[in-house]
Amino acid sequence: MPRTPYIAANWKMNKTVAEAAEFIDALLPRIAATQHDVVVCPPFTALHEVVERRRGTAVRVAAQNMHFEESGAFTGEVSAPMLVELDVEAVVLGHSERRQFFGETDEALAKKVPAALAADLEPILCVGESEAARDAGQTDEVLERQLRADLAEVADEDVAKVVVAYEPIWAIGTGKVATPEQAQEACAFIRDVLRARGAAADDVRILYGGSVKPGNAAELLALPDVDGALVGGAALVAEDFAAIVEAA
Ligand code: PEP
Repeated sequence: MPRTPYIAANWKMNKTVAEAAEFIDALLPRIAATQHDVVVCPPFTALHEVVERRRGTAVRVAAQNMHFEESGAFTGEVSAPMLVELDVEAVVLGHSERRQFFGETDEALAKKVPAALAADLEPILCVGESEAARDAGQTDEVLERQLRADLAEVADEDVAKVVVAYEPIWAIGTGKVATPEQAQEACAFIRDVLRARGAAADDVRILYGGSVKPGNAAELLALPDVDGALVGGAALVAEDFAAIVEAA
């Protein structure tokens, strides 16, 4: 079975509720005919608005983070059941900005990924190397370490329910996009690591993320092991995001 292309918009800490509504209204007519999985990841405050506006359409909604516990004394956090109650369908986990600025660890991710799956939320697990690691020839080592740790508590038969986003840190928000060779090599390596641990690796959607734009999307999305894109900056403008969906 061919893997359905998966294009996700990571808005990060952008868009008020009113701006989110405007975006969805502009996006929906532009992607009405798509057969791809189109996912929008608003900040928590705009989740409800986006969920309601996209009802009856192909657009799915993901949160940008969650806690692994269902409830408790974790001020400022949100749990998987809280997201499910809003009809949110997926959650971004391990984005490099969370790892870098908010102390997200592989230990926490090893609990978050199974917690999301147990709640029927599709995890979009982000992995990727720093520029220093790439320069030192450690890209594969970093990716393998993150995948092994973050998926340690996921059963082999459930790994294909996880979407993996390869996001080289040096390409995120920098305008410095990975070459098609770098993106293909890393995504193929990720698939190999998943296959080696016994997962149905050919069923796993692996996305590339890092300065994807309408102008470079088609080339990246045509790569054999790149099944979609996680888009930051270019996903803030409905026309640009729709153009990326169309390029897939
Ligand atoms: C991201 O936030 O996941 C991302 C890839 O950002 P950008 O497209 O802006 O590089």
